[in-house]
Amino acid sequence: MGKVLACKDVGVNCDTVIRGKDEADVLRQAAEHAKGCHSGVQMTPAVQAKILAAIKEEGSSSCCGGSCH
Ligand SMILES: [Zn+2]
Repeated sequence: MGKVLACKDVGVNCDTVIRGKDEADVLRQAAEHAKGCHSGVQMTPAVQAKILAAIKEEGSSSCCGGSCH
């Protein structure tokens, strides 16, 4: 099961959804995406923490991100 990140969950107005095999993979792709699409966004530790908090288990129910199942 992979990880998924909805760009809008990080607080930007963007419909992009990033999928990766693990959090590091999603984070790397998010950095690439931010470079191309969100030129005003800096990959600061605070932004990385926000991204990590927004990453969800792919295919899990939306009620709790999978932690209650
Ligand atoms: Zn985006």
